[in-house]
Amino acid sequence: MSRANSLPNSARLGNHAVEGYLDKTERADMRAAAAKKIEELFDILQIDHQNDHNTRDTPARVAKMFVEELLHGRYNPPPKITEFDNATSYDQLIVTGPIDVRSTCAHHLMPIYGVAFIGVLPSPEGKIIGLSKYDRIIQHFAARLQIQEELVKQIEQHIVETTNPRGLAVRISAVHMCKTHRGVRASHASRMVNSSFYGEFATNASYKAEFIQECTSLERY
Ligand SMILES: [Zn+2]
Repeated sequence: MSRANSLPNSARLGNHAVEGYLDKTERADMRAAAAKKIEELFDILQIDHQNDHNTRDTPARVAKMFVEELLHGRYNPPPKITEFDNATSYDQLIVTGPIDVRSTCAHHLMPIYGVAFIGVLPSPEGKIIGLSKYDRIIQHFAARLQIQEELVKQIEQHIVETTNPRGLAVRISAVHMCKTHRGVRASHASRMVNSSFYGEFATNASYKAEFIQECTSLERY
């Protein structure tokens, strides 16, 4: 049985990591196999990638892009984050953003791009992480085939598990190119906004309102 077939189903979902991740050699094998299949796709689409000076290297280039960039967050572990004890027991709202989000839609393989905001209510006995780490966590989960609703949830779960806050809010506002570049060809101003609230954000309406207000003012700059 091949390695791929022996993996549990959840690890095969486009926005889940593969079990055990892949090392450099395994990723190189995957790239070579994917490039061959993209060559086949070009053959079917009647694109002469062998003689067309523009597309000669495209199958290999696209395979590399998928394995090493667009799906990086499936084959590599989440970024290492340094956690600090909340020594001063800081317990007030922290909001960070806008953080650039670049992902790929699971339905059409088209880009999703926009911004994210994170709101944290630290707990005195929990952990604090450096601000730039939120960017890295978002980049990690965005580098999978995503739908925005699940991306927000995955980011939330990871931060909750690693830092144990009293409350966490994650908000993404993004353009989906499957809507602007094809289909209805919507305006690039057309975005999707969604949020996820955990802990005291979910139970306390005033924290929720304060977070949304901070996001709105941060987005204006
Ligand atoms: Zn789509």
